[in-house]
Amino acid sequence: MNRHLGFVLVLAAACVVGILLSFTRLASTIDNAAYDWMFNLHLPAYPAARSALLTIDEASLTATGGRQHLRKTLAGALEHVAAAKPSAVAIDLILAEPSEGDEALRAAFARAPNLVLGADIPQHGGWEWPIFRAQARAVGHVHADPDPVSRHLPLMKAQAGDRLWAMCLEAYRLTAQASILETPTDLEVGAMLIPARPETARAMRIRYRPPGAIQRLSLREVTEDPSRAALFAGKAVFVGFTAQSEVKDRLMTPMEVMMPGVEIHAHAFETLAAGDFLTDAPAWTGVFACIILAALAGLIFWRMPGWIAYVAGGVLLLLAHSLPHLLFRQSIVFPTFAPLLVAWLSVVGAAAYQYFGTRLQLVRTEQERSRYQQAIHFVTHEMRTPLTAIQGSSELMSRYNLNPDKQKQMAQMINAESKRLARMITTFLNLERLGDGSLDLKQEPFSVAQALEACVDRARLVAERKQMTIDVIQADDAALNGDRELMEYAIYNLLTNAVKYSPAETVVTVKSERRGNQLRLSVADQGMGMEPQEVKHIFDKFYRTKRAEAAGIEGTGIGLSIVLEIIRHHGGQIEVSSKPGLGSCFTLVLPALS
Ligand code: ADP
Repeated sequence: MNRHLGFVLVLAAACVVGILLSFTRLASTIDNAAYDWMFNLHLPAYPAARSALLTIDEASLTATGGRQHLRKTLAGALEHVAAAKPSAVAIDLILAEPSEGDEALRAAFARAPNLVLGADIPQHGGWEWPIFRAQARAVGHVHADPDPVSRHLPLMKAQAGDRLWAMCLEAYRLTAQASILETPTDLEVGAMLIPARPETARAMRIRYRPPGAIQRLSLREVTEDPSRAALFAGKAVFVGFTAQSEVKDRLMTPMEVMMPGVEIHAHAFETLAAGDFLTDAPAWTGVFACIILAALAGLIFWRMPGWIAYVAGGVLLLLAHSLPHLLFRQSIVFPTFAPLLVAWLSVVGAAAYQYFGTRLQLVRTEQERSRYQQAIHFVTHEMRTPLTAIQGSSELMSRYNLNPDKQKQMAQMINAESKRLARMITTFLNLERLGDGSLDLKQEPFSVAQALEACVDRARLVAERKQMTIDVIQADDAALNGDRELMEYAIYNLLTNAVKYSPAETVVTVKSERRGNQLRLSVADQGMGMEPQEVKHIFDKFYRTKRAEAAGIEGTGIGLSIVLEIIRHHGGQIEVSSKPGLGSCFTLVLPALS
């Protein structure tokens, strides 16, 4: 497979895996854990609290003499609270049934400024309305997020055809003396824009304050010492149970403390009042970040060399890790899991791909080098034969007084052997020059039949030593345009290979046929053949099959690489079919002259 394509596929896979896994429960658990961690790490500078709590704790319940006397005691305490002039009073109690002390409570409610009462959704559905609705400026829902950890608050709740705003939002709206306007992305209360989308029931992330940041007094404390109610002056007072026995909605918060519902509403009120909202980044930005991270990892390991790439990869990972933090500091909640997973997968994937790719390349180069060395060995060995003959003959000629016939014979031998040497050197030089494209090829028309005949005649001399025959089936004579000498070299090479890699007494069949404007010239043998994966490499310089080496047949592994170069220079290609033990067929496909 193409290396570039493989590299891109690795990165694309990292991206897809990261994005797909981001829809799993594991991903949301990790995102939430990261959110809680960052929440505590990047606490903002909180403005002074604008709310306070009036809590009904165990001690208050005991002091009032039980739940049945609660409304009367509460009424008394609320009179003190009202005297302190709070900005609003929000009652997080379910007051759906009449009970003892209702008259006193009704009177106290009537005097409480900006009174917000709570409505609950009971098991059977619908709303459980408070019986004191007439005294209230607003009724708000007192539900929290259904998650085990309360991070959001749904600012709106719809039930049985009625939509209620959250109690804290109603309290805020009343203190701000504004109304609530809905837009497709936000809620507008006066000049305040609250990011809360309708598809999430207008959920808002609560900016919890540290425990104790919102001041509180218990019902008992106010009843026993009414002067302490001065604490509530100018604040929104949230009234509700904190007694263990009464609180059913005590929830965990990102601050890792449990809070009763009334306190959660007070913190949500503070979030609204401070106007410092945490907004979730749109989903597409997470996907976009994944793609960018994978692309950057790709660029780094594609373009940068060695250790610089590893350092840059490390920096990219650092960036991916700090991205959610940087955005959190800008009050943007960004997913952690998917971008981090994609960053790690793509950095590790790209690094591993490049590392193993480079190693493979190294192994190949190493193999090529050793083959080259072998070839040089072989060539020098081959050169020694003509050199020895030349040396020997010249020595004989200079030392002894030879008769003219003998002298002539020696001179002819020297001439023939030096020509052979020159041919060997030329072949090697041609190979190099063919490789870098600096060899000038002749461009002349020539007859294939004639070129073929010349090659077959020479090859037959070699074949005869193995009692082999070469059959020629010439269907058509065609003309080719190019360099006849080089073409003969190529054909002769295929023929000698066919003879060299075949057992004795077998047949080599040469066929030339014309199909349209193509000439197909094939050389088929009944020799040792090759495995398909060996065939892929036979045109590499210095490659030799194991089979050929095991059989002890000498060769350089260069011949076919020259043949391929020659055929390519003639605008053709080579097809090879081969079966181990059965034989091979090399077909040259060349553009014929019309
Ligand atoms: P050489 O024959 O000098 O080794 P080549 O480049 O001509 O180099 O061939 C490369 C390799 O391809 C050979 O070493 C041999 O293993 C294999 N090969 C070539 N031709 C044949 C053939 N006709 N039958 C089987 N194997 C062949």
